Amino acid sequence: MSVLVVGSVALDYLETPFGVMEQALGGSATFCSVAASYLTSDVRFVGIVGADFPQKHIDFLTKRGIDLLGLVREAEGKTFSWGGKYHDDMNTRDTLYTELGVFEHFHPVIPDAWKQSDFVLLGNIHPSLQMEVLEQIEQPKLVVCDTMNLWINISQKDLKKVLKRVDVLILNDEEARMLTDQRNLITAGNMLLRMGPRVAVIKKGEHGAVLMTRDTYFASPAFPLETVKDPTGAGDTFAGAFVGWLARTGDVSTANMRKAVVYGSVLASFCVEEFSIDGIRALGEEHIAERFSMFRKITTF
Ligand code: AMP
Repeated sequence: MSVLVVGSVALDYLETPFGVMEQALGGSATFCSVAASYLTSDVRFVGIVGADFPQKHIDFLTKRGIDLLGLVREAEGKTFSWGGKYHDDMNTRDTLYTELGVFEHFHPVIPDAWKQSDFVLLGNIHPSLQMEVLEQIEQPKLVVCDTMNLWINISQKDLKKVLKRVDVLILNDEEARMLTDQRNLITAGNMLLRMGPRVAVIKKGEHGAVLMTRDTYFASPAFPLETVKDPTGAGDTFAGAFVGWLARTGDVSTANMRKAVVYGSVLASFCVEEFSIDGIRALGEEHIAERFSMFRKITTF
């Protein structure tokens, strides 16, 4: 089944205890769509880049089988850029800068042929743009939404309107606490479910992720890794793989969503092992299958 992904495309500046990378391919739509492309074949990409966006990145996304019909390539202006610096624990980071570039005047336009996409993944962008997407699509099977602390801080009203129309909300623990004003994550999760989504997935970085509905709870650890070089995009990668698995199977039951959480965790584990998109640039099916079965082993007792 088809997956429509909308979000940012970026040339990032990344600084971690392992080094620095400039002009690194990033953005929520990029990580989401690349991760989804490992699990399902019909991935549709909506975003915008400026004149400085290297052709090699377009070639890479195309090679991954991602349909770029919805990617606007502006003849002038700069691609969105985000700079981030990670602290020694790699769990916390500071945003050094956010340069909107061509993103400043971006309004997503969903090509007619994509308006009936089965799965919609609203990657992390301003909630008013996420709403513009929802207004263009017709009866999707499932809408999944990601967000970030920035929007909870500055556009909470818009975000709450979007939440009324999404099926699954994916966010991290800090964001869940901010959005609900609750310290306890279970209380926060239950409050999120009252805001609209029927499923809340709360990511906890190196401590894994939990999936909550009104009557079920599922917890997955993170894959035990010794090397974490750059966590950028791990959340987007998780969301992309989560939706990718649901689209591959066409099954949106909560039982299948548990597997989707594990696929999310598997792809995110590859993502953080290298800078930028490099950890998920060229995975084989066997790499994914191997870590998936390792998850079974480490969670069975
Ligand atoms: P994550 O580590 O999952 O939060 O995703 C990091 C990616 O999000 C980076 O590649 C950034 O380019 C992108 N990003 C950071 N801030 C924003 C923002 N305000 N809007 C859209 N994308 C952003």
